[in-house]
Amino acid sequence: MGNNTHDQYRTALDRAHAHAQQWLDTVAERPVRPELDADGVLARLDRALPEQGTDAAAVVDELAEAAEPGLMAIGSPRFYGFVMGGTYPAALAADWLVSAWDQNTGSRQPTPATAAVEEVAGDWLVDLLGLRAGSGVGFATGATMANLSCLVVARDAVIRAHGADPAAGLQQAPPVRFLAGDAVHTSVVLAGRLSGLGVPITVGADDQGRIDVAGLERALDAGEGPAVVALQAGDVHSGCFDDFAAAVEVARRAGAWVHVDGAFGLWAAASPRLEHLVRGLADADSWATDAHKTLNVPYDCGVAIVRDEAAMTASLGAHAAYLPAVASIADPYDHVPELSRRARGVPVWAALRSLGRRGVVDLVDGLADAAAALAAGFAEIPGLEVLNDVVFTQVCLATADDATTAALGEWLRAEGTAWASSSTWQGRTVVRFAVSNHGTDAEAVRRTVDAVRRGALALGIGAPAG
Ligand SMILES: *Cc1c(COP(=O)(O)O)cnc(C)c1O
Repeated sequence: MGNNTHDQYRTALDRAHAHAQQWLDTVAERPVRPELDADGVLARLDRALPEQGTDAAAVVDELAEAAEPGLMAIGSPRFYGFVMGGTYPAALAADWLVSAWDQNTGSRQPTPATAAVEEVAGDWLVDLLGLRAGSGVGFATGATMANLSCLVVARDAVIRAHGADPAAGLQQAPPVRFLAGDAVHTSVVLAGRLSGLGVPITVGADDQGRIDVAGLERALDAGEGPAVVALQAGDVHSGCFDDFAAAVEVARRAGAWVHVDGAFGLWAAASPRLEHLVRGLADADSWATDAHKTLNVPYDCGVAIVRDEAAMTASLGAHAAYLPAVASIADPYDHVPELSRRARGVPVWAALRSLGRRGVVDLVDGLADAAAALAAGFAEIPGLEVLNDVVFTQVCLATADDATTAALGEWLRAEGTAWASSSTWQGRTVVRFAVSNHGTDAEAVRRTVDAVRRGALALGIGAPAG
């Protein structure tokens, strides 16, 4: 590599560092919404593929300048959209190293350092979440791929338990029943379709979205053969948790595999204060979660965890003459569907190393406290109502009529102090706040409640009629 290339790394990274620092210095105070939509950003980009190349530092400047007005301040302590986390300094910095090192973390032998760091991160996660030591851990792009990874393992395991060979294909196997509660996340539905399990049979749910365990039992009793049950830790609207202890017991009697989608909710298991929400969780067979949500590592990082590590390797492992492997030890590519990938578990290690166990507990408790404080603040505003039982990080806000609630959501997002999603829950339009950023403190809550109060006033919500 010539000196010229070395200089280009240095100048391009210096520019990237300056732009990143500028973004991070201003992200908490800029309007949360983007200034431009995608078409607005497209208008700032040269649309024709250039014939000639450009210096790396100039490319970085051009990118940052074109993109900046179209960036959403997801790192703002007052961003509550979807369920998205911010990023911790140690995790972000580690992510930069991951890119610079460029280790294709599939196999322990060629990339020993990142494979080893990820193994430690995986063990720490299993420990923090109270799951069985020795469970297999895979770092996927997100909870969708983690759900898919786990459901593929589940599918194969229950087929094998019924005496068939999953490698022969689903056509040769007994049909697998796939069951879930009515509030099943769309990502589990997608993972069901991709895995060949199909769209789940829904067995009912209560008013918060918790699976109807009696309905699950009836559905399992109504059929026979292999079955996979998907439970949920953290509903995207209410934040509620299924009754794992009861549901696992019912599933066990039917010989079913139990998978838990805990994209953000699984983290409640790290908090002694929230333990009551996850009783029985550790008795499931597999779990999917995200580090890019609650743990606040940069996008992207999902985590697939399977109690029976050998089952995980049997379903997801790949073999080829050129892939070095030590027979008795799983490689990273044995736990996810990818052969090639970035070392996305390394920022997880960095986040956990910087927080320690105590810091993770404080993070999770802090998110739940902020959600409770938001709900309490909203309840004081005339004409507003919190629809869900706020047990974790989700708050669904509504007014007396759907059109006004929709208008309040739009007003809030346009005003720019805060950003929350509009959605529909239990037949009503809601503005949904998902507290997922480590920076959402009492001050952020106060400013958010103030913004909502201003919106309610501006829209005449709660004003006496006439
Ligand atoms: C976010 C989310 C998912 C999907 O996770 P991705 O990381 O976006 O793939 C699945 N389930 C629940 C409950 C979620 O909140």
